[in-house]
Amino acid sequence: MADRYLSFTGTAPGRFLTRRLGLPQPAALQRWSPERPALDGTLLCLVAGKPDPDLAAGLADVLTRTGPHPCGAPSGASAAAPSGQPPAAVVLDATGVRDVDALGDVHAALHPVVRSVAASGRVVVLGAPLDAADHHQAAAQQALEGFTRSLGKEIGRGRTVNLVRLADASAAESTLRFLLSPKSAYVSGQVIHVGADAATAPEDWDRPLAGRTALVTGAARGIGEAVAETLARDGAHVVVLDVPAAEKDARALAERLGGTALTLDITAADAGERIAAALPGGLDVLIHNAGVTRDRRLVNMPAERWSTVMEVNLASVLRTTDALLASGTLRPGGRIVATASIAGLAGNAGQTNYGASKAGVVGLVRSLAPRALEQHGVTVNAVAPGFVESRMTAAIPLFIREAGRRMNSLAQGGLPVDVAETTAWLAHPASGAVNGQVVRVCGQSLLGA
Ligand code: NAD
Repeated sequence: MADRYLSFTGTAPGRFLTRRLGLPQPAALQRWSPERPALDGTLLCLVAGKPDPDLAAGLADVLTRTGPHPCGAPSGASAAAPSGQPPAAVVLDATGVRDVDALGDVHAALHPVVRSVAASGRVVVLGAPLDAADHHQAAAQQALEGFTRSLGKEIGRGRTVNLVRLADASAAESTLRFLLSPKSAYVSGQVIHVGADAATAPEDWDRPLAGRTALVTGAARGIGEAVAETLARDGAHVVVLDVPAAEKDARALAERLGGTALTLDITAADAGERIAAALPGGLDVLIHNAGVTRDRRLVNMPAERWSTVMEVNLASVLRTTDALLASGTLRPGGRIVATASIAGLAGNAGQTNYGASKAGVVGLVRSLAPRALEQHGVTVNAVAPGFVESRMTAAIPLFIREAGRRMNSLAQGGLPVDVAETTAWLAHPASGAVNGQVVRVCGQSLLGA
């Protein structure tokens, strides 16, 4: 499972050889650790166009709290980084870009500084919601998406580029904190819409889930285990759900995290009712992570392979979501995060069943999100992992696995913790303005990008 190529390219001979042969040169990514919780360096704040003064003031306020220390004044589109200090992150406020001329400011702002952004650094572009009544604004704002995705593909050195569309700076604080931290190491080329709903800042940003209960399905191993660990780190009481056959691992993990184990097959018709019965005190965070693959090309796929995947990955997600909302087990302020996959967005040979089930998850999220928020005060989002180093991907034949690993802007696979950090951000109480989003954790995979 270890990425030996990544280790090799980190050595001097490895760098030399791969450069000479024109092979991918992945950079070792900086991920969150208690010893290194923030990006090393400063935050450069730049502006393109003419942002709304209230939004700009709110943004300046939020950015003083996000992690890297702000260094550039949020004025003057061509402000450059102070010499000798590579910025760890650049935030470009392009919310005020309303026409093609103002797009010139985007080039003027980033062209002189992009080279100096530190390795594993961040570029975050801020955009405005698209204005349906103004096609010049809509064209200029949509242009930011093509810009962001293109820069993400060329920037290299483990650096990421994302676009956040926002209407209110304080509602976007949890999102900006996430993107401007090592927690988002494998999230690149994404466009995230943040609404204007009032966000409540947690008492402690290091333990935003304190006092909350979170249930993670399929948590005995792999990505689910990392999600459980990350939610526990953030203060949650975690319920580790997995099949009876995984009871030993589920119990050991629950014990380690000070949580509870719940063994049941999520496809059972009464799974939602059994979860509700096991949680008389209610639930704040529901993570649909359990998933299976049964790959075969459609011509060779028996109906049983189709239905197993559909049951675990989609039907049970729909059933348990409905049951836990209807019973009121998921409290107001609750969060649902479902696990999709880039196979559901881009399609994948041999995975008609899996791709269909994961696309179904996306449909569920987009349709339910506004109603769940309005009727239950619960947000619904999805993470869509790309190639993640796990038992699932370790089973892929060697050459296909190696291609899958490298076919993204960061030229490496993600780790379970990358999906976990993204899930945790969406699960936080302060992320209430993020709803109906499908966030890919794929290093900007070339598939369906
Ligand atoms: P995994 O196979 O390592 O773990 C899945 C867990 O789900 C296991 O512990 C399993 O026992 C549990 N599970 C399976 N069926 C269940 C059921 N009926 N009831 C309860 N629990 C059940 O998988 P993973 O790689 O950690 O993947 C986790 C999720 O991420 C899945 O939804 C998967 O489709 C998705 N995903 C993974 C990748 C990847 O590269 N690994 C990529 C995209 C999406």
